[in-house]
Amino acid sequence: MTWRPNKTTIGLANLKGGKVANKRKVVIIGAGIVGLATALKVGQRLDNAEITVLERNHEVLSETSRYNSGVIHSGIHQKSNLLKSRLAPRGGQELIRFCEENDVRFRRTGMLIAAASRDLAGLTRELSSLYRLRKNSRRLNLKLHVLSRYGIEKIEPNIRALLGIYLSEVWVVDQLSLGAALLKACQNAGISIVFEANVQNIVRCRNLYEIYTKSSKSGAIKVFEGSIVVNAAGVNSDTIASAAGFPRYKIYPCRGEYYEVIGEKSSLVSNTLIYPALPPGHPVKGIHLTKTAAGRLLIGPNAKSWESKFDNFRIQTPPAEFLDGAKRFLPELTESDLKWAYSGLRAKTNPGVGEDDFVIRFEAHHPHFINLVGIESPGLTASFAIGDYVVSGFSSHGF
Ligand SMILES: Cc1cc2nc3c(=O)[nH]c(=O)nc-3n(C[C@H](O)[C@H](O)[C@H](O)COP(=O)(O)OP(=O)(O)OC[C@H]3O[C@@H](n4cnc5c(N)ncnc54)[C@H](O)[C@@H]3O)c2cc1C
Repeated sequence: MTWRPNKTTIGLANLKGGKVANKRKVVIIGAGIVGLATALKVGQRLDNAEITVLERNHEVLSETSRYNSGVIHSGIHQKSNLLKSRLAPRGGQELIRFCEENDVRFRRTGMLIAAASRDLAGLTRELSSLYRLRKNSRRLNLKLHVLSRYGIEKIEPNIRALLGIYLSEVWVVDQLSLGAALLKACQNAGISIVFEANVQNIVRCRNLYEIYTKSSKSGAIKVFEGSIVVNAAGVNSDTIASAAGFPRYKIYPCRGEYYEVIGEKSSLVSNTLIYPALPPGHPVKGIHLTKTAAGRLLIGPNAKSWESKFDNFRIQTPPAEFLDGAKRFLPELTESDLKWAYSGLRAKTNPGVGEDDFVIRFEAHHPHFINLVGIESPGLTASFAIGDYVVSGFSSHGF
């Protein structure tokens, strides 16, 4: 990103002028859930702020924030010493409140994490994972029930599993409905969201940043100014950080695809989310069954490293690995019951195994630049707490 337009050919965009001259200009890059939740938090914290969110697409929650499992997680899957394990439970509570107050489509589902292996080695591994998850849940103060095979049949009669742990405090949210509510909340708070504004370059000029955008439609170039800039660009956050002079980050996109169960068998799961037993800190949660807020039964996601920062729905992994994952719990499924659904890109900061943590870094003071990098699962759950974390850093960083 070395491109910089000739400044004589461009007009400074809507952030100049006497009326707003004394306002703090805050620019947030990315209208995913993290960018929007952060914008709302900044608005609550700074009453003299003029907040602009720049988004390269033409709608909110158009990338990873739309294409995920939509689960408001309890935090049980994360190791308890990470920033994300602190932020997810708090963020989850606030997200639930936001959904209740803003008519977002969401549903309490509960989550069953179950051991279903038919061979002894597999079963031993799964039981050990359940034991470690249970220990982790105690550290996180989560309430759960251990369920026998019969207990599992009581809540989900068609699920075949030998033993499981059940968390009742888990929800699923409809991403489109959430996006519409966040957009409205931002508009009501006077936050301006500029679509088709693809950030190309960021230049530091004394006490502010100039942010150069190019319209994805017309190619028109605009420049925005910010004395506080938050990079919430998801899988592209490393490129944005580099453009602003912080080249130390690297995102390794990791794609997760979903299949959907179609026809009558989509009602084999009535409500509960069904997850395989993988230990806390595992880099992904494994292929699971999700009954979405809209009532679809999804199988996925898988995890594949992905070269590009852009997804491509035409590339579809054959169903075998999804069918294998789902048949452990629902043996009657066949390939003809499955249809490819969608995929999303995880913003991993680590190409190998091991759990990544969120990176939230206050890079520069006067003007201020905050990078939010590696916000992968449970980033949707944690989004409002990430926004809180950003604004709580304002005073300690001299904002
Ligand atoms: C398969 C999968 C399943 C998941 N399941 C869950 C789950 O069940 N629960 C959960 O809590 N989390 C889940 N997550 C994680 C969660 O989806 C993410 O943590 C969260 O959506 C990240 O939000 P974001 O706003 O940081 O990123 P994004 O939603 O990607 O938003 C970034 C925005 O920045 C914009 N942008 C990028 N570059 C530019 C640019 N140059 N100029 C302008 N705009 C730009 C993009 O267009 C995009 O809209 C899952 C993720 C995946 C991939």
